[in-house]
Amino acid sequence: MQQNYGIDIWSDNNFIIQDSTINVNHKNRPSLLEITQTVRSKGYKGPLLLRFPHLIKKQIHTLYSEFNRAKKEFEYEGDFQAVFPLKVNQFPNFVNSLIDVSREYNYGLEAGSKAELVIAITHTPLGAPITVNGFKDKEMISLCFIAAYMGHNITITIEGIGELETIIEVNQEFNNGLKNPTTPKIGVRIRLHSSGVGIWAKSGGYSSKFGLTSTELLEAYELLKENHLLEKLWMIHFHIGSQMGEIAPLKKALREVGNIYADLKNRGATALDAINIGGGLAVEYAQHPSYKELNYSLKEFANDVVFLMREIAKSKGIKEPDIFTESGRFIASSHAVLIAPVLELFSQEYHEKSLRLKEKNPPLIQELYDLWTSLNRSNAREYLHDSLDHMESLLTLFDLGYIDLEDRSNTEILVNLIIKKAIMLLKNEDTNELQRLQDRIQERYLVNFSAFQSLPDFWGLGQHFPVMPIDKLDIKPTNPATIWDITCDSDGEIAFNRDKPLHLHDIDLDEDEYFLAFFLTGAYQEVLGMKHNLFTHPTEVVVDFSDEGDFELNYLIEAQNLMDILDDMDYDKNLIDKKLKYMIEESILLNHSQKRNLLGKLYLYLSENSYLKTIQANQKD
Ligand SMILES: *Cc1c(COP(=O)(O)O)cnc(C)c1O
Repeated sequence: MQQNYGIDIWSDNNFIIQDSTINVNHKNRPSLLEITQTVRSKGYKGPLLLRFPHLIKKQIHTLYSEFNRAKKEFEYEGDFQAVFPLKVNQFPNFVNSLIDVSREYNYGLEAGSKAELVIAITHTPLGAPITVNGFKDKEMISLCFIAAYMGHNITITIEGIGELETIIEVNQEFNNGLKNPTTPKIGVRIRLHSSGVGIWAKSGGYSSKFGLTSTELLEAYELLKENHLLEKLWMIHFHIGSQMGEIAPLKKALREVGNIYADLKNRGATALDAINIGGGLAVEYAQHPSYKELNYSLKEFANDVVFLMREIAKSKGIKEPDIFTESGRFIASSHAVLIAPVLELFSQEYHEKSLRLKEKNPPLIQELYDLWTSLNRSNAREYLHDSLDHMESLLTLFDLGYIDLEDRSNTEILVNLIIKKAIMLLKNEDTNELQRLQDRIQERYLVNFSAFQSLPDFWGLGQHFPVMPIDKLDIKPTNPATIWDITCDSDGEIAFNRDKPLHLHDIDLDEDEYFLAFFLTGAYQEVLGMKHNLFTHPTEVVVDFSDEGDFELNYLIEAQNLMDILDDMDYDKNLIDKKLKYMIEESILLNHSQKRNLLGKLYLYLSENSYLKTIQANQKD
């Protein structure tokens, strides 16, 4: 049984287990529990998204250092440059942190829509690259020209011949007759023969949505030449899909693109100077060694790209191109951790304290009780079998009317306690029978979050995200666990899986709080998240560190309150407000002071977010 929740596989040393807690491995190493409790002490309940800018910086730094190391090692002459693809995370607290930590790298942004382009134009430092991919209309292309006139270093990627025709038209409108015409740089996306692997492989390959075929490429070349734009063509681009688990498809794509690049360059596209390899650099999400998702390191990735480009340039007698990447998942995923409070354990009723033993119990129940108290390692298997046998008999007795509901409840509790104890005692004998029993006593943890909102790729694609409790890590977790979110949808469940088991602690929520953390949720999940059941983006906060090493909480944004959620859905907020007030004021069941009292309560609830506070009356909230 995995004790450390696979932290050595997925955490990249970003988090460490210290005594009973999991801590941020940075500066004064605060525990996630400490950070969570600080936020909750200010009154913010429900799930919490923690952002760690130092982890964004680490990824950007690692990316540049590995490519610069590879460049040195292979004596490569081209530059290395990178942009962040905004579609991976457009949230302002993320983007502002990213810009803040990346200043020394001349790191830029990639946009795939008009709204993303506006973010890129207003957030990229002048001089740092902006690339614009995806389908574009005349307005979007015009925005690129406006950005170029502002002084931005912007590249439009042509995704089809139609787009190029529009660029030519817009260029006429912006620059006709001007002495100092300003045009964005031009890139062209190649439709590759090679395709990626895995669940996100559709972006590459011949049937992909994007890019020019060889025939279209030649046509584009002619068009650019005729319209005096060939000196603007500086980049060719490809992207073979996200979360590339193997390196082989990338190598194949690099050879293909390298040769296209050399051909265009030798044909007369003399301004051509960069190859943009898109994204796809994978992240290790696995918690169990046999489920690892990638078979290469960043070092190998960088070496392959630099080496192959050098070989092609050498053999074709051309200058080594600048290498450009648009890795998104690799940069963003580790920075966000979702903390979700556990609200309830569903089989908590199977506790010793719930037993209702009588003065005189039916003999079989007395026997179950004795089996439970005298269970030990040597008799565990035999007593387990006896208890299962007794349970069958007792349930029959109930059906025939010989024992009552209290006896039946005692039976269920005692048999559950016996199974749990036997499994603990026999944990080294991994038999089928034990595993089946284990599934039967698995605990369901009701967790205050929405899988649809916060882990959409789990819901849609079965993507695994590392999950673990944030304290009690010095105690062995004994419950095989299934996680239920709070949506009314049975897909909001992370079911116990024997092949990659999750074990959580047996806790009494009347006494204690218990939080789960989901890691690597910083890429794609936030904006893909959906408001199923009207659960919105969780409360989020940026965790910075002072020079002294203490953590600081900045830019806290609370999850939307109920009225704002309805407003967002285009309900008339004022009408709803009036209607609620009217229905209380007109109620014939209430006197004047009761009405005032209820109105007060109502407005308090309306100002809160839609996540649950607590569901146990005596639970500390
Ligand atoms: C989505 C996308 C990326 C980012 O891919 P990751 O796998 O997140 O690195 C890069 N470039 C383009 C063109 C994309 O569409």
